[in-house]
Amino acid sequence: MKVTFPHMGFMHIVVKSLLEGLHREVVVPPPISQHTLALGIKYAPEFTCLPLKIGLGNYIEALESGADTIVMAGGWGPCRFGYYAQVQRDILNDLGYDFQMVILEAPDSKISQLLDQLKRLGEKVSFLEAVQAVRFAWYKMAALEKAEQRYLYTLPRTIDKDRAEQLWEQVLSHIDQAGSRKAIDDILAQAMLSWENLPRHHEPLLRIGLVGEVYTVLEPFSNQNIARSLGRLNAEVTNSVQLTEWLNDNLFKGHLFKSRTTHINACARPYLPCSVGGHGRETVGATVDFAQQGYDGVIQVGPLTCMPEIVAQTILLRVSKEEHIPCMTIYFDEHSGTAGIQTRLEAFADMLRRRKALQADYSDVQQGGNVCAVHARG
Ligand code: SF4
Repeated sequence: MKVTFPHMGFMHIVVKSLLEGLHREVVVPPPISQHTLALGIKYAPEFTCLPLKIGLGNYIEALESGADTIVMAGGWGPCRFGYYAQVQRDILNDLGYDFQMVILEAPDSKISQLLDQLKRLGEKVSFLEAVQAVRFAWYKMAALEKAEQRYLYTLPRTIDKDRAEQLWEQVLSHIDQAGSRKAIDDILAQAMLSWENLPRHHEPLLRIGLVGEVYTVLEPFSNQNIARSLGRLNAEVTNSVQLTEWLNDNLFKGHLFKSRTTHINACARPYLPCSVGGHGRETVGATVDFAQQGYDGVIQVGPLTCMPEIVAQTILLRVSKEEHIPCMTIYFDEHSGTAGIQTRLEAFADMLRRRKALQADYSDVQQGGNVCAVHARG
């Protein structure tokens, strides 16, 4: 059995580690490229969302490289995700590929149901070995998230942005190869130190929250690496979605650690009191949360035609007004041009900078206690 799975950010490092811990041969799909996307566009129905098309391209490339088993997360709810695996399986069958698809479903109540599914995926694996494989993969994922947060913190602050990005690429590749917790700790410590030592500038910074559909937030290819573009504009990006949280909520039903979802849902409640599928409610809640934390702006991202994000977008108009936070929405599909996205990001960052400068002027005036000073300042 040669197992493959779709890409989503750095998830391939984690899933590869897990499957190897279950004694499976793994075929990681090649990094997502224009060729991957072209395959997805060619064989998926035109109106399906971008993650389905990219995932389909991943599978075709992996099957062509010798994979014979696809592992995919299942799902349910009012959006299309629950049908992804079935639709992709039918398309691949029609194309004549010989493979089996294993769909991991979230357990109804007990976490042991999920561990049983993973154990069945393994090759002569004991229950203890399955648990160890999950724990080691999780350790890698937590380390990668910590490193990513530091990278996103450093990029806007340093003048050596190329080096900051290079270090992040190195962390990805070294943690992928790490075989022990000690090795992961050493890689992380070394990277933190290197980022810390990069030269800094004293230009003003922006803080921007990134919200939206999970795949688009987590997969740089699908959002045209928006966090990197903003970092290069001296804007620090905070992702509202973390892989550990998403898996804890969706596959482990919140059994692993106390989830932030309750807080985010409470933030959303005055604007959207129920789920609308996908990550729609979380998009609204995270935007309110960012506003309350004093962020300068929020960018919502999603695939074109993503129903939950369209619902959230309409509600963000009110959130923006009442919570006093500028919001911009960007939808991505195969026609999104790099130059167009870059122009929109630059314009949004400029607008946030002007707004911040005006607010600083206004607060200086208020502290002086003389409103006429506004006019005196011109
Ligand atoms: S959340 Fe959006 S992108 Fe994801 S399956 Fe649902 S509609 Fe498609």
